[in-house]
Amino acid sequence: MRKPLVAANWKMNGSREFAERFFTDLNLEGVTSGVVVCPPFPYLSLVAQEAEEKGGFAVGGQDLSQEPSGAFTGEISASMLLDSGARYVIVGHSERRSFYSETSELVAKKFFAAQAAGLIPILCIGETLEEREQGRTLEVVATQMQAVSEVIDTDAWKRAVVAYEPVWAIGTGKTATPEEAQSVHEFIRAQLGQVGDEVQILYGGSVKSANASALFAQADIDGALVGGASLDAKEFAAICRAA
Ligand code: 13P
Repeated sequence: MRKPLVAANWKMNGSREFAERFFTDLNLEGVTSGVVVCPPFPYLSLVAQEAEEKGGFAVGGQDLSQEPSGAFTGEISASMLLDSGARYVIVGHSERRSFYSETSELVAKKFFAAQAAGLIPILCIGETLEEREQGRTLEVVATQMQAVSEVIDTDAWKRAVVAYEPVWAIGTGKTATPEEAQSVHEFIRAQLGQVGDEVQILYGGSVKSANASALFAQADIDGALVGGASLDAKEFAAICRAA
């Protein structure tokens, strides 16, 4: 049986003061799912310390370098994330793919680097509105997954999380209907072949407490990757409680 997982992606939001207040307000009572909080890099250690003191959640990075170390100004390696207390790292978020031109090949290298260091990658995949309207949703997610499959063993998927985030649903208030999301999740699980049943597949895109339960009721939706709603401790805890 897969354990549900809810991950907060704060993106480039917050401050030291925000983070401190968030954890004062965060009440995870009644939450049985796994919980991950992915803050901006400068607050990783602070959040890791909160995780150690408070318990009930793990810490993740929002991106990493595909390189282990060296002259790569501004980059952050997998081992540095581990060092700062992270256990997870988001790779291939659509904002990185579109604003920073990350290709599926680069994302695959980052996925590999994360696992090589012992981090659990949360691989984001998903189609744009144009691709959906062209009927290419399944082809797009399959191609994004294939790039990763080419650099890892099938078994390595067991040490990863997949997040299906339709780009048109991110930050727009438009959520895929639970049935629309389920059909893509089912397809993603089938793509994973024999290890599919062991991989957590999260949904992301305008998830909030009001729509979380209906999404989580779907057979292949194992939790959520939450953006905007994860900046409110009460709202985020309510989503975790629904999982
Ligand atoms: P929103 O929840 O703000 O739509 O963002 C989703 C997302 O991109 C999480 O990674």
